[in-house]
Amino acid sequence: MRIPDGVRPVMRNYSVRSFRAATSDAGAELDVDFVLHGSAAEGTAGPASRWAETCHAGEHVLIIDEGLSFNPARGEEHVVLVGDETALPAIAGICASLPSSAVGSVIIEGPDLPDFPHPAGVEVTRVVRTDAETPGALALSALRELELPSMPFHAYIAGEQALASGARRYLVGERGVEKDRVSFTGYWKLGASSPASRASREAASRPAS
Ligand SMILES: Cc1cc2nc3c(=O)[nH]c(=O)nc-3n(C[C@H](O)[C@H](O)[C@H](O)COP(=O)(O)OP(=O)(O)OC[C@H]3O[C@@H](n4cnc5c(N)ncnc54)[C@H](O)[C@@H]3O)c2cc1C
Repeated sequence: MRIPDGVRPVMRNYSVRSFRAATSDAGAELDVDFVLHGSAAEGTAGPASRWAETCHAGEHVLIIDEGLSFNPARGEEHVVLVGDETALPAIAGICASLPSSAVGSVIIEGPDLPDFPHPAGVEVTRVVRTDAETPGALALSALRELELPSMPFHAYIAGEQALASGARRYLVGERGVEKDRVSFTGYWKLGASSPASRASREAASRPAS
C-alpha cells in the first residue's frame, strides 16, 4: 500500500474457492477460479484475466487476505444467494460452509456454470447467459420471480455492479427486507477497470515520512 501509483503492482480481488493445509509431505494449496474475459493475445483482457490466461507454473503472486464478505452472524439457516460467474467461487464456498439444515435459494448466472455441493434444502437455479445479454440482467429477473423464504433470511449478492445494487434495491425497497440482512458487493463493473482500493488511494496520497 505504501508503493506509489505507477510503481505499485496490479491488485485485484479473488475468492478462495478452497484451501488445503500443508501436510508433512506437501505444502499448502489454495484454489482460485478466474473468469477469463477478453483475450490476452488481442490485448482486450484486464491484467488479472491476462495473467490467468498466460501464467506458468512456478510464477509468484503476493496474496493479501481481506477476510470474509459473507458474515454468518447475519444468518445461515435461511439464505438467498445471488451472483454471476465471478461470484461462483464465493457462493460455492458459502454453500460448502452452510449447516446441512439450511434452506433457501441460489441464483447463479453465467455462460458456463459447473455444479457445486449445497445443502439439500437450498435450491439452485442456473441462468445461462449468452453474449447478447447484459451481465446480471437474467439473474435479476430470476430474483424478481423467486418465491422468497419467510423472513428473516440472509441475502448475499455479488457480481457485476448493476446486479449487486439492483438486487439490493429490489429486496430492501420492494420486498421490505431489512438492510442489515443484505450483504452485497459489486465484484466488477461493465466497461470499467477495477479501481484501486480506498486504502491504497489514501496511502498513495500521503506524503512520504
Ligand atoms: C471480493 C471479490 C471477490 C472476487 N472473486 C472473484 C473470483 O473468485 N473469480 C473471478 O473471476 N472474479 C472475482 N472477482 C471479480 C474480479 O476482481 C474482477 O472481475 C476484476 O475486474 C478482474 O480484473 P481484470 O484485471 O481481469 O480486469 P479489469 O482491469 O478490472 O477490467 C478490465 C475490463 O474488463 C472488464 N471485466 C472485468 N471483469 C470481467 C468479467 N468477469 N467478465 C467480463 N468483463 C470483465 C471490465 O468491465 C473492464 O472493461 C472478485 C471481486 C471481488 C471484489
